[in-house]
Amino acid sequence: MAAPLTEQERTTADLLLEWDRTRPRSRQRELGWSEVGGCRRRAGYRLAGVEPSNPGGSVQAVLGTAIHEAVQQRLNETAAPDDLVEYEVVFAGIIGHLDRYEAEPEDLIDVKTTSSRWLEHIKIWGPDRSHLWQVNGYAAALIAKGIRVRRIVIDYIARDTGEVYRWVGKPTVEAVRDALDWLREVRDADLDMLHRDYEPDGPFCGHCPFLDICWNGYVPDRDRRSVLFVEDPDGEKWARQLADARAAIKAAKALEEEAKGALDALRPNVSGKSDILDVGYERGLQWTITNPERLDGDQVRADYRKAGAKPPVTTSTSIKLGFAKLPDAEP
Ligand code: SF4
Repeated sequence: MAAPLTEQERTTADLLLEWDRTRPRSRQRELGWSEVGGCRRRAGYRLAGVEPSNPGGSVQAVLGTAIHEAVQQRLNETAAPDDLVEYEVVFAGIIGHLDRYEAEPEDLIDVKTTSSRWLEHIKIWGPDRSHLWQVNGYAAALIAKGIRVRRIVIDYIARDTGEVYRWVGKPTVEAVRDALDWLREVRDADLDMLHRDYEPDGPFCGHCPFLDICWNGYVPDRDRRSVLFVEDPDGEKWARQLADARAAIKAAKALEEEAKGALDALRPNVSGKSDILDVGYERGLQWTITNPERLDGDQVRADYRKAGAKPPVTTSTSIKLGFAKLPDAEP
């Protein structure tokens, strides 16, 4: 077992995470608006008052928190008397802390940090559903208190490039209704039946305070998702799901290729990035043509062979699951 880190051995990441864990917001145990629309099982644990099993948090999240703190500190010094800064709201029994509300011009503003890659996605497709539900939940809480909200604004900051992108919208009844429907489903479900919405090895689960409780019971030395089979040991059902999923992927891939091929009729460029083309769909089309250089593996192997040497290789374990004809099945 590894010896605990001494004071001198604590890394910068350790210090950042420690700082984050001491903040009152990180110790919040009840479900917050920032979790609505995320993982249903995590929301279920919150609603059931389950004690977290893991410290949770990530360095990326701390970077976001630090940016929030800096903005908040500056706003505390400059906010107008009727503005609200880092203000606690409750709507539908769910707590939240809005970043700021500017009474003139009645804007509710939230700040989110993201990667530049995801920012490109947001610029085209708009904010994530959970972000929209969160700010609309805040807006509903203010409106219920008689505070007018004319616009909701989300300022996205890319952590890696520093780019700031402002999304502006209006509060909508639909977003609040959808969020409340989602909440009702979570509340009404048996906690053990709530879907695990993320992958155990991915970043969401990796930073989730319920990671160990959630995936507890998996088969030793196997994928953590083997707990799904332990809970529902119906091999035929899972095999059917696998076959159906592969068929759906194949069909979707074929549809994608067909649409790409058809739209190639409109492609205006033979290299680089095209202008954005409006074809009447809710998003424009843009072609990007690159000529990436790839290592010619066959040539490299041939050259090594000629020189009487073996090319350097690394080994890894790959687990493939395929279908095979049963020995006693009809031909
Ligand atoms: S560990 Fe993952 S799947 Fe489980 S509650 Fe947390 S986010 Fe959801």
